[in-house]
Amino acid sequence: IYFYLLKLGMDKDAIISLLKQINYPGYNRDIVSFGIVNKINFSDNTISIKLNLQKDNKDTDNIKNLIKDLLTKTYPHIKIIFDIHSPATQNNSAGEIKALNKVKHIVAIASGKGGVGKSTTTVNLASSLSKDFKIGILDLDIYGPSLQMALGCDQKPLMNSNNMLLPIDSYGMKTMSFGFLNDESAPTIWRGPMVSRMTEQFFSQVDWGELDILFLDLPPGTGDIQLTLVQKIALSGAIIVTTPQDLALLDVKKASDMFGKLNTPIMGVVENMSNFIIDGKIYDDKNNLVNGILTIGNKEYSITNGKFEVELDIFKGKGGLDESNRLNVPLLSRIPLNSELAQATDLGTPYVLKHKNTHINECYKNIGNQIIKQLGL
Ligand code: ADP
Repeated sequence: IYFYLLKLGMDKDAIISLLKQINYPGYNRDIVSFGIVNKINFSDNTISIKLNLQKDNKDTDNIKNLIKDLLTKTYPHIKIIFDIHSPATQNNSAGEIKALNKVKHIVAIASGKGGVGKSTTTVNLASSLSKDFKIGILDLDIYGPSLQMALGCDQKPLMNSNNMLLPIDSYGMKTMSFGFLNDESAPTIWRGPMVSRMTEQFFSQVDWGELDILFLDLPPGTGDIQLTLVQKIALSGAIIVTTPQDLALLDVKKASDMFGKLNTPIMGVVENMSNFIIDGKIYDDKNNLVNGILTIGNKEYSITNGKFEVELDIFKGKGGLDESNRLNVPLLSRIPLNSELAQATDLGTPYVLKHKNTHINECYKNIGNQIIKQLGL
């Protein structure tokens, strides 16, 4: 048999180089480097291929057909058997990464593009939960790490006796970022494989210890880091951050759909910069608080005991609602545009730790409560 196979020019390497021609549906990366092909065996005129794929994943049949077509074209008389295995899901303690043994849940925060407030959401959601839970934040945004600034932290992480990096304690949270390790200009020249390796080390070489939730601030879009995650890390879920007007672009859909492919449940959508709220007091010329109606554009707002609150929609879209409906997941919150929220990032103290009982505090608390409930914590 072996000689028969040799005569056909068929060996493992030949098969693998053929399989490398097949891209994962919707990606520019092939199924071999994606980590889908687990094992190849030959017997008689049969090749059995073990694939790491979810059985009910709609891409699975698609990939099987692509493999069948390509291999039978090259080896017309060969029989192909598939063995489909689900990759580890939702249970890191059974996984291979020791440093994550005591991390109960890993939740990714993702967006279609940059600048929509993904990092702001991560830091404030994490800070809001940190009063009651053991929280970690891993900033994987290699080309624009922002955790350092948002937490006002300029320490460099130390190594313990086992050569593991110790996360930096910021406001009672365990934090790690590319920004902690590199000077600002270095990462821009990093290429995909290097980024993947670094990403992996942030899980395996950091002494995360015991955590209820480790939040991952992902880079925007759908690139190498996300692919590394799918191969190595069992995520409990993902949160998608978008802005109201973002949906005209396909980025958000692409980012959300990526998690579908990776069998990661989407826990909900956060719409950031949803509206602009102005509140204040109005007095009459005798310094008495007034009652009445305030008209702005064609909208009326009541003034009661001098107090008014005006909610302006800056962007006309309903990006968060539309996307959460499409995905059939909750719209976790609509966070207003707020200058103090923007300043907090620059000043190095998370907004929710600096302010109390504001509408924005409530927004993040609300997201936190829903996440906790979904994770069963
Ligand atoms: P991303 O992580 O998606 O790139 P960031 O969280 O870094 O986005 O936010 C981009 C910029 O917008 C930052 O300067 C941040 O302070 C500001 N920002 C984010 N959310 C809000 C908001 N709701 N109101 C005002 N400014 C915001």
